[in-house]
Amino acid sequence: MDLPFQIAEILERLDHAGYSAFVVGGCVRDHLMGLSPHDFDITTAASPRETERVFADCRVIETGIKHGTVTVLYKGASVEITTFRVDGEYSDGRHPDSVSFSRNIEDDLSRRDFTMNGIAYSPKRGFVDPFGGERDIRAGIIRAIGDPDKRFSEDALRVVRALRFSATLGFPIEENTARAMDAHKNDLRKVSAERIFAELKRLICGKDVKRVLLEFPAVFSVIIPPLAEMVGYDQGSKYHNSTLYEHTARAVEAAPPTVEMRLAMLFHDLGKPHCKSTDENGECHYYGHAAVSAEMAGELLRALKCDNALRERVVHIVHYHDIPVDTSRRYFRRQLAKHGAELFSDIMEAHIADDSAKAPFCLERIPKIQEAMQIAEEISREAPPFSIKSLAISGKDLKGIVPPSPLMGEILARLLEEVVDETLPNEKNALLSRAVELSKELKDLSNNLE
Ligand code: ATP
Ligand code: MG
Repeated sequence: MDLPFQIAEILERLDHAGYSAFVVGGCVRDHLMGLSPHDFDITTAASPRETERVFADCRVIETGIKHGTVTVLYKGASVEITTFRVDGEYSDGRHPDSVSFSRNIEDDLSRRDFTMNGIAYSPKRGFVDPFGGERDIRAGIIRAIGDPDKRFSEDALRVVRALRFSATLGFPIEENTARAMDAHKNDLRKVSAERIFAELKRLICGKDVKRVLLEFPAVFSVIIPPLAEMVGYDQGSKYHNSTLYEHTARAVEAAPPTVEMRLAMLFHDLGKPHCKSTDENGECHYYGHAAVSAEMAGELLRALKCDNALRERVVHIVHYHDIPVDTSRRYFRRQLAKHGAELFSDIMEAHIADDSAKAPFCLERIPKIQEAMQIAEEISREAPPFSIKSLAISGKDLKGIVPPSPLMGEILARLLEEVVDETLPNEKNALLSRAVELSKELKDLSNNLE
């Protein structure tokens, strides 16, 4: 296995000082899969103090000293070195009551989650693989190390990690491991939202997310409770040829693999069961479901401790995921003014993903949506005046016409609408004379109302 020179030198130095040392976990797994590792974690027999002594000439940061981890800044690389560890009992289902250090690599590997993550390598000893990790990687299967029931009861986050690896690598989950995941799904309620969300974001971007969603609906329903009602839900609509949950799984996978788009598709129809109506022909409708879904998405993302910027974008996409698509110039200017170019493009992507997951005849609508995306791009490149700020006048210019007041705000908003619609040029004189007209119209209107 090729190692960056800093990693090879660190292993060599520890070894020379009498402490066995290995690279371990994700980097070994990635190497065996023919992928290039993104970071190298080191595990060693040296205690954190001993590691500090071996690297006395380097900067060493005590990143997780309680768990035996220090970070060494070595020749421009920042490398985590963790002492071989065995975990004590997990009485809370989240973290070990105690950790104790070990001088034995096999001990350290046995506390790790899956066989493919329980392999160590050193140039001196080669691969150390006591649980058949390499065999499972070759077979393409995810298997818990040791007794799966015990491993998931120790730390239920492993349930979501198994789903994450299954979705991203495209590997199925071994039968006993899958059974134990289902048995321990409710323990996920004890795991912190931050840890779950970090895994969920990677999981949904996986190439096999649809299969994983369809295989483990009960687990996903623990993480995102409103999904439970969608499982087996017949949509009663000619547009749909699958249940609401299946449609959702298909739509997620049809979306581009960004966290934002995939989350939006996961949440886009959450509100449907709350908005159902049936017409005289027995056809079901879900009027207003996008707004309800958006509200539910916002609550769920808050509970998952999602950052505000991402939450707001996802909620926006969900809210507008079913707006009508037109190809008139006025439509685009209005939509771009309302959403901005980026979110409008995301909304169109959501449309495409949604239609891809419906009855086959809905696929016919996709070329029109793609055309709309293209036109929107061209129009947004013209950089038209799309906000009150970009109008050729400001509130100051209106002072002679109306005093600063809600009325002035209303006038500016109307001027913007007309400029967006291209019924009014964005020129100072034209805007001012229109403002005079509008102030009269609006004043008359409010007098009539009084
Ligand atoms: P990647 O970095 O590509 O996401 P990784 O396998 O390196 O994958 P990390 O979360 O960085 O994942 O964890 C590093 C290693 O630590 C894993 O390979 C695994 O051996 C171990 N590990 C991580 N989380 C757990 C856990 N919850 N339970 C048991 N072992 C774990
Ligand atoms: Mg890693």
